[in-house]
Amino acid sequence: MDVDLFSRLVATPGISGREERIRSVVRAELEPMVDEVTVDRLGSVTGVRRDGGPRVMLAAHMDSIGFLVKHIDDDGFLRISPVGGFDARTLVAQRVLVCGRRDLVGLLSPATKPVHILSEEERKKPPRIEDLFVDVMLPADEVKQLVAVGDPVVLHREPVVTERAVTAPYLDDRLGVYVLLSALRAASRAGAEVYAAVSVQEEVGLRGARVSAYGLDPDLGIALDITLATDTPGTDPNERIATAGSGAAIGVMDSSSISDPRLVDAFKRIATEEGIAHQLEILPRGGTDAGAIQMARAGVPVITISVPVRYVHTANEMALIPDIDATVALVARFIERVGELELTW
Ligand SMILES: [Zn+2]
Repeated sequence: MDVDLFSRLVATPGISGREERIRSVVRAELEPMVDEVTVDRLGSVTGVRRDGGPRVMLAAHMDSIGFLVKHIDDDGFLRISPVGGFDARTLVAQRVLVCGRRDLVGLLSPATKPVHILSEEERKKPPRIEDLFVDVMLPADEVKQLVAVGDPVVLHREPVVTERAVTAPYLDDRLGVYVLLSALRAASRAGAEVYAAVSVQEEVGLRGARVSAYGLDPDLGIALDITLATDTPGTDPNERIATAGSGAAIGVMDSSSISDPRLVDAFKRIATEEGIAHQLEILPRGGTDAGAIQMARAGVPVITISVPVRYVHTANEMALIPDIDATVALVARFIERVGELELTW
């Protein structure tokens, strides 16, 4: 596990549509590893490794969920509009970073009275995102100078790396970007033209990968993302999607794409032959960049390979290091062996 690279990727702000800061980090990482780096019109970054053979697009999204400042009130409190899907119950009492003229630490709080003076009835109401406001701990006139409507707001919490696990906001999908960069570094040679596409605006509808795939015109597409590790209290074992600790998740289907069965078989075979821990996964709701890539031009066979993550879309997303390492190894071996694939029907 490259803790430095991981920490840099998860700690750099970059919500959908406002990826400029994470884009420069990704670009700098990609440049020494590939023959050419390009940035397309929506802002996705692609590194190309020209080793000859089929055109393989490996996509991981750099954007994260977050908020935009929607309104600044007379007292300097900010109201926010979500970008991507949040569960309001997980946001109360979180810290955020407001990316204004400079970065300001803010406190997320529901617009309600302190618990001491709440009535029984008021206590029962679940929080709604519309009711949350941000306190940047500055006087109103200063707030108005530093913050404007439309400024991005991200969850703010230091990443933690233990012997066994990592936790931070935004493992979705900076962990996918980490897997892509690390696999590219680890793959000794590519049996293909590899397009390492780090996409924008996935969380708001797979928008970056859709246009990237059109431009790159790949022969096959692999989305690298995270999936739901539902091996925690509160989920029925029959509804299990993926299990933390059981290795790289080979996606069979989600609500945006059905993986090409030849690619599912290829990944299973490579994982088995190389002794890499893996599991099969079906995600009944939610999609990845694979859903957009498969619809490019005349169609592209796709698959999603994921790291299982607990507490997805909260400030405490968590993944186990052996699962991350297994996913990197699986993708690296696939890059090396993709030339073996027979892709005719
Ligand atoms: Zn994602």
